[in-house]
Amino acid sequence: MITFTNKRILVVGAGASGIAVSRLLTSLGATVCLVDESEPKLDAVILGDLEGLGVRCCFGMDSVRDLACDLAVVSPGISKESPLMRELLLRQVPVLSEIEVAFQCFKGRIVSITGTNGKTTTTRMIEAILSGSEVASSSAGNIGYPFSALVQEQPQTEWVSLELSSFQLENISEFRSEIAVLLNLAPDHLNRHESLEDYYRAKARIFENQRPDDVSIIQLEAKEIMDSLGCRFAGRVLTFSTQDVSADLYLARGFVVSRIPGWSGIVYDISTGAIRGKHNVENVMASLLCGHAIGLSLSDIQVALSAFRTGAHRFELLPSLDGICLVNDSKSTNPASLCAALDAARELLSKDGRLWLLAGGEGKQLSFDSLSSLVAEHVHGLFLFGRSRHELQSHLGASSWCFVSENLRESIQAVFEHARSGDIVLFSPGCASFDQFRDYIERGEYFKELIRQRRQDLVLSGLKNRQGTAVSHRSNANGIGDQAEVGSFALENK
Ligand code: ADP
Repeated sequence: MITFTNKRILVVGAGASGIAVSRLLTSLGATVCLVDESEPKLDAVILGDLEGLGVRCCFGMDSVRDLACDLAVVSPGISKESPLMRELLLRQVPVLSEIEVAFQCFKGRIVSITGTNGKTTTTRMIEAILSGSEVASSSAGNIGYPFSALVQEQPQTEWVSLELSSFQLENISEFRSEIAVLLNLAPDHLNRHESLEDYYRAKARIFENQRPDDVSIIQLEAKEIMDSLGCRFAGRVLTFSTQDVSADLYLARGFVVSRIPGWSGIVYDISTGAIRGKHNVENVMASLLCGHAIGLSLSDIQVALSAFRTGAHRFELLPSLDGICLVNDSKSTNPASLCAALDAARELLSKDGRLWLLAGGEGKQLSFDSLSSLVAEHVHGLFLFGRSRHELQSHLGASSWCFVSENLRESIQAVFEHARSGDIVLFSPGCASFDQFRDYIERGEYFKELIRQRRQDLVLSGLKNRQGTAVSHRSNANGIGDQAEVGSFALENK
């Protein structure tokens, strides 16, 4: 148990979790200084609120140097290589993550989720299962709602579905969850971790403080990596896999089948839900195991999973355009998620349909070579954009025909010169978005906007052809959002 009362605590990073943990720590009687090496654009109301609580806010490296503290709490966005973190290391200041502080104060029970891909989807799935079973539950962590905020704002929470990144796990101490999930492991974040092994070991920390009564849910392939690193599991291990039928939960002819004693047989029929791709089947498997470990009824779990939708920017099917199937997978930011999207798109492809892939953005010095056979076999043409376009071309150019352009707009223009009815246009960048966008959401919305414009142009050119006269260009206040709006717009112009 760590106590924070009367401690002088430096909170590093003035993002959402830094702000939330500053509030939590002051409520516990700590003296808090919130620091950020840069000058974050903090909302004046938030700043006023923090100062009103007694939090001292210091921005810029110079204001930080003289600060003495008993403990530092670091936000996940702060690298251990940053000047401030180096300084703290030099002064031998103990460092904790925001997750650890929230854990120390949380009265409820925790199911935590990590992995290279699928964390947010699975965190939401587990929350859907819990709330469908009328458990007082919530989701928090890397999903966008700091755990510290939940601790203060929803103290009655019985179970939290907690998404954890490797950065959040780096500085835990006593953090423990009754149920811990590791979805998968693939190369990523090598700009922050010293090596792949370092990254995988950070992920493994999710199991570190588990006890024999706890449950460790892990993809069988990821468990093999954990075993090779010598990681130990104190809790009961339950495995899942879509590739290997020796896992506790495996896939057979579209059914998820369990071999767990007392819970064996078919536990889920994939065709009852709206999820796409084997990667989402794995997320379903992890969620089923969580529901089982919590003790929820299988039928309640199944109902919640069947109603679940993966949401925007994650293999999101848009309304088709001229018979072309469009997929927005802007959240794909590494080769492994691109691989999952290709596999899922392949399943959707009709006999004569062709698959066109739009990929690119800010590279993370990760190799795309593992994709070359999948690309060679299934991708008819590649449209590469963004800062990493030439790097991608060098990895994948030999596997498929390539069009290389600076930005997404040009790629989209070009893809529609080739795609025809029955084809799939898959936007799965496989790279970070920061070269040209604020984040993956802005990138995905921009993709959708370009599609809307294309839809609008098609409607207008259809009208022109039918009327034989030029139709003036009008757009409604919100732009043309979907097929229904396109329909009413077309009517207005008749
Ligand atoms: P995370 O929170 O780990 O980034 P998301 O659920 O937001 O994961 O999904 C990120 C990307 O990874 C999306 O492109 C999504 O389609 C893909 N994805 C989701 N689940 C998996 C999985 N289990 N394995 C591989 N890719 C996945």
